[in-house]
Amino acid sequence: MQEIRIERTKTPKTKPTDQSKLGFGKIFTDHMYIMEYSTEKGWHDPAVVPYQSISLEPSAMVFHYGQEMFEGLKAYKTEDGRILLFRPNKNIERANNSNRRLCIPPVPEDDFLNAIKTIVSVDRDWIPTAPGTSLYIRPFIIATDPFLGVRPSNTYKFIIILSPSGAYYESGLDPVKIWIEDDYVRAVRGGIGEAKTGGNYVASLAAQVKAHDEGYSQVLWLDGVERKYIEEVGAMNIFFKINGKVVTPMLTGSILPGVTRASCIDLCKHWGMDVEERRISVDELVEAARTGALEECWGSGTAAVISPVGALRYENDVMTIADGGIGPVSQKLYDTVTGIQTGKVVDELGWTVEVK
Ligand SMILES: *Cc1c(COP(=O)(O)O)cnc(C)c1O
Repeated sequence: MQEIRIERTKTPKTKPTDQSKLGFGKIFTDHMYIMEYSTEKGWHDPAVVPYQSISLEPSAMVFHYGQEMFEGLKAYKTEDGRILLFRPNKNIERANNSNRRLCIPPVPEDDFLNAIKTIVSVDRDWIPTAPGTSLYIRPFIIATDPFLGVRPSNTYKFIIILSPSGAYYESGLDPVKIWIEDDYVRAVRGGIGEAKTGGNYVASLAAQVKAHDEGYSQVLWLDGVERKYIEEVGAMNIFFKINGKVVTPMLTGSILPGVTRASCIDLCKHWGMDVEERRISVDELVEAARTGALEECWGSGTAAVISPVGALRYENDVMTIADGGIGPVSQKLYDTVTGIQTGKVVDELGWTVEVK
């Protein structure tokens, strides 16, 4: 494992005092982590430095062909002052899967985890403590060769920035309304849908704008071939409870394999529930909603953890779920996952990693 050089800022910023106004992704801490890659040296020179601008040539490959990947996870402070990460090894494993798909050189797992622990430890005083708040961790890698030809870059930067983030829900879980998109698609099997990369997000913007204009907060994507099977929400995976069983789309290659998704599946199985990972057609959903078999629906992702879905709109049908409220499984998953993350619920499954 490589040793990380640490250069502390001489001009610390004033930390936000009102933790109810943090929002998401707007404030950045005093430091960042950065490591360089070249084909000759491999990954080298890891350092924690003051948060600052980076300088790139306008010809840097990331600007033209989008060779970049990112991750997202959070650090939490417990009531007794410990700092916990939630399943960081899952993010690291996924990051390297994204890297392989995008022809970015993988980062050694121990260096990756050490990078996260070190930057979080240096900026530990930035971790907010109000209920529901956390320190969002954003690792990303960009291709930096100054070159306009199309090929994988020979140089990269791996950077981690940190952002204190506010409670996703101001006053408890709040159901969202979701638009099922049957025109635009997000990803196709064999494409980059299962990699966490900017390209998937830019592909989603037009439908998101359309859904917002119609009064819906997020888009639920259908498969890119038949536009018939449920895939996922913009930055969340999706779950249904149909006839007492928990059902979620199987990972077919076009869906992002969420850490929160895996945790929901593990917990539901741990509680003795039936969990099915399979193809779910939109017709099956419409029918289940009609007969009352569709008992619950929720999204899962690091940002909101669990996001109950109160309504789904498909073409001209609006399906109201759990009377537009919060179902018991959604609530229990939310309470358990956030409880484990913040040290309030016993971590029976060994999911948390402490930052010293
Ligand atoms: C990150 C992400 C998710 C959720 O993954 P988590 O690991 O649970 O945060 C789901 N879908 C997409 C497209 C994502 O980028």
